[in-house]
Amino acid sequence: DARKETRGFQTEAKQLLHLMIHSLYSNKEIFLRELVSNASDAADKLRFEAVSNGDLYEGDADLKIRISFDKDAKTLTISDNGIGMSRDEVIENLGTIAKSGTAQFMQKLSGDQKKDAQLIGQFGVGFYSAFIVADKVVVTTRRAGSPASEAVRWECSGDAEFTVESVEKADRGMTVELHLKDDALEFADHWRLRSIIKKYSDHIAIPVVMQKQKPAGDEADNTEPEDEVINTATALWTRSRSEVSDDEYKEFYKHVSHDFTDPLSWSHNRVEGNLDYTSLLFIPARAPFDLYNRDASRGVKLYVQRTFIMDDAEQFLPLYLRFIKGVVDSNDLSLNVSREILQKDPNIDSMRSALTKRVLDMLSKMAKSEPENYTTFWKEFGQVMKEGPAEDFANRDKIAKLLRFASTHTGSADQDQSLDDYVARMKEGQEKIYYIAADNFNTAKNSPHLEVFRKKGIEVLLLSDRVDEWLMSHLQEFEGKHFQDVGKGELDLGKLDTEEEKQAQEKVAEQLKPLLERVQTALDAQVSEVRITHRLTDSPACVVVGQFDMGAQMRRLLESAGQ
Ligand code: ADP
Ligand code: MG
Repeated sequence: DARKETRGFQTEAKQLLHLMIHSLYSNKEIFLRELVSNASDAADKLRFEAVSNGDLYEGDADLKIRISFDKDAKTLTISDNGIGMSRDEVIENLGTIAKSGTAQFMQKLSGDQKKDAQLIGQFGVGFYSAFIVADKVVVTTRRAGSPASEAVRWECSGDAEFTVESVEKADRGMTVELHLKDDALEFADHWRLRSIIKKYSDHIAIPVVMQKQKPAGDEADNTEPEDEVINTATALWTRSRSEVSDDEYKEFYKHVSHDFTDPLSWSHNRVEGNLDYTSLLFIPARAPFDLYNRDASRGVKLYVQRTFIMDDAEQFLPLYLRFIKGVVDSNDLSLNVSREILQKDPNIDSMRSALTKRVLDMLSKMAKSEPENYTTFWKEFGQVMKEGPAEDFANRDKIAKLLRFASTHTGSADQDQSLDDYVARMKEGQEKIYYIAADNFNTAKNSPHLEVFRKKGIEVLLLSDRVDEWLMSHLQEFEGKHFQDVGKGELDLGKLDTEEEKQAQEKVAEQLKPLLERVQTALDAQVSEVRITHRLTDSPACVVVGQFDMGAQMRRLLESAGQ
């Protein structure tokens, strides 16, 4: 059907588009990176589908991306011979900017251009970055395997509406034609485009080609100029580490993660032997906006012998490392591998252990040699790391060393103290690691349970994240030292109390017995026991939960989960 239809974006999408154009204005050139990145993804998808259906190549398996421009017409064109899109796919992929969570995301925007640009980057603008430089974008696309008459033309001027109509297109793939704004005419220039491609897209695994620039004075020459390949055009992870610059790694990260911010760190390894694979894993600097969303995508990109197999292969890393981005390229798996097969393959388990270890090592190294980066990491992903001990028993000790806590040692809410730091500061005779868990930092910090610890100068960890009690119930001990919740059960300071203190405590207990009995009778229905305590120095009384009862925080967590 050739019918032309006009459709509208959702309100949120309009706002988002407007904001994006303005906040990314100072970094216009990134639109090209996004469009080339999409073309490369489309080539990957075609290769993957062609594994089971070679006809999709339509006799042309020479995948590439072409960039051309017309100075007079003020246009710039990016075309590929990748998978292309059907009419429905165009409407689905280019007609809905607003993903789930957009409203929440919009609320986070501050009006501060720099911060917003970063947020928008995290949200991922991709294709729509075309509107930073263009006032009209025309997409022509045909899905591989569909007849030439089933191509689609999508057109939008960056405002409230777009149109779709059916057209003819002989070659499969997608062409994006940008009608450049007057302040973006600099992009209709061979050398400018070339340098942007080199800078951002050198790592793209297929050739990015342009026509050779004719030497000045040769304008009369009417022969068609030759093509030249601008990028290195080999899969970056197949190159040896020493040949890849930091900037190349960073741009590659942005391509695989769809993130705009540089990563904090990466690890690139070739494993040979029993299993043969290459991995390139990145630690992002910013948490995605949907880190806690159950359905959010996670996992690495899986390739088998350089052929793209799937995005979000989640079998290669545990859930608490779901923020890790990157690529795994296996030489052993079959090209027909599916998620179901991955789940059952015992080799995947060994790869998962090895990759998990790699990430944890990368983090320990960062904690030691780049403490500032580690602080950033902890702020963004610390809460997720706290899920680790429960999920990954085998690596419990390694993860414990990576944890950071607020503590009475600093008295600040910053989670910046390690368990190693705590143990090094333990008092003579101290056998346990003390902590208190509360709903928020101030409640923890001002808890009457801390009075005796203050008096004796004993450090207590101040826990107030929702996951903390869950974490503590799985940590149990660190370097042979048990954890003790100071708000729970009877307080036994062990060797930290002197003989005299113990005697004095017993004497007081004897004297106060009658009082205790009276209070017990009065509160009978509300409490299970009334005890003399030595944990308070200023407050007269406090409520504690039993040693084996659920903490208050855990109780609320379960309640909010509907249990
Ligand atoms: P992302 O790349 O993060 O998915 P984009 O906004 O860059 O988001 O692209 C949106 C979607 O449009 C892609 O996921 C893809 O399905 C589709 N798309 C974009 N460019 C192309 C292309 N060159 N060929 C085929 N599909 C494309
Ligand atoms: Mg994209």
